[in-house]
Amino acid sequence: MTTTDPADLADRVADGDLRIHELEDHADHDVAAEARRLVLERETDATLETVADYSFEAKRAEPNIENMIGAAQVPMGVAGPVGIDGSAADGAYYLPLATTEGALLASVNRGLSVIRAAGGATARVTKTGMTRAPVFRVDGVAEAAATVEWVDDNVEPLREAAESTTSHGELLGVEPYVVGDSVYLRFAYDTKDAMGMNMATIATREACDLVEAETPADLVALSGNLCSDKKPAAINAVEGRGRSVTADVVIPGELLEDRLHTTAGGIVEANTRKNLTGSAKAGSLGFNAHAANVVAAAFLATGQDEAQVVEGANAITTMDTREGEGGTTDLYASVSLASLEVGTVGGGTKLPTQREALETIGLAGGGDPPGSNADALAEVIAVGALAGELSLLAALSSRHLASAHEDLGR
Ligand code: NAP
Repeated sequence: MTTTDPADLADRVADGDLRIHELEDHADHDVAAEARRLVLERETDATLETVADYSFEAKRAEPNIENMIGAAQVPMGVAGPVGIDGSAADGAYYLPLATTEGALLASVNRGLSVIRAAGGATARVTKTGMTRAPVFRVDGVAEAAATVEWVDDNVEPLREAAESTTSHGELLGVEPYVVGDSVYLRFAYDTKDAMGMNMATIATREACDLVEAETPADLVALSGNLCSDKKPAAINAVEGRGRSVTADVVIPGELLEDRLHTTAGGIVEANTRKNLTGSAKAGSLGFNAHAANVVAAAFLATGQDEAQVVEGANAITTMDTREGEGGTTDLYASVSLASLEVGTVGGGTKLPTQREALETIGLAGGGDPPGSNADALAEVIAVGALAGELSLLAALSSRHLASAHEDLGR
């Protein structure tokens, strides 16, 4: 039986007649969300009128959330435009960013405007592969070796099984790892315009059935953490995951002085001592200043899986002096994100505000050819990260960082 009365539903939850996750069985999604807010408001001191003030039908968020009560509104700004010469990105792009960190948009915008004045950035996706690594139990190393041998000899049947579950995904390879009586198989897929974690998981499950049927290995877990999803892991920083993408630019010395109030030498020293030496001393996986800031804000704006900012922070920033025409000292700047996991279809990308944000970049939905939109998005985010690195290192080397945060962020 469905109802349009949220108070009645809230009463039934309070009476123990209904559980909070069952409300959509008795009302439409917006009424169910309202009933949940009432339950919360009665049991806590909260007033949820702003949480309630969302502008899309709750049903549209159905595959993305359970127990919905409304929407968290994160302010969204825009930086750019900036010219990008990429493998997929080509032209001028705005970058929408959602954040609560004051000064971030100003900093990225400043970096992008300097890159724009320098003629734009170059960006390339150099590797693609969304991974899923199930773990199998075997008797011991002899069975482990037999399993690895079978996998190495049977990539084609594994590909057929995996690709039977998707019309877009392509199996790129399977990398086996053995630890005692555990065998890990790291499957890597080209997931085209999807970030691909569901796609890769479903495809790998099908391939696992074949491994179990043909080898002594028994599946213990479809994810054995060698994937490695949403955890800091060197394997992603070294081998890549999702997209490995690099952006670079050469900034004339004059621009550095006029716009960033510093020099190439100043920025290079700050990068070496902070991003390289400091990160090495800290045992960090990220040799960068704040790539995660741009990755996180772009992920929130465009509907990416925000927990994958963990992998998105695996970035190395390099800065070097270059001799310019007329003997000037220019700056070569690059950022390489080893494991940026992005999509323009699926997941949160189809939610209304997130889709609108993707439209501002011109990258909503599937690309032609498939995969080109997600490649372009990776390149745009990489250039945004490069702008953030430039601006922050310039602020540090000209000692403006604290005053910028004081002026803009507090
Ligand atoms: P998805 O929304 O599950 O699937 C996207 C689907 O879009 C693909 O399966 C594909 O269908 C279709 N598609 C249409 N046009 C496409 C194109 N041009 N390129 C690629 N695919 C196209 O998204 P997903 O990217 O696989 O997974 C993302 C979701 O997984 C996120 O919501 C994330 O939070 C969640 N996630 C899941 C896990 C997990 O372990 N399962 C882990 C982390 C995150 P066909 O496959 O039929 O071609």
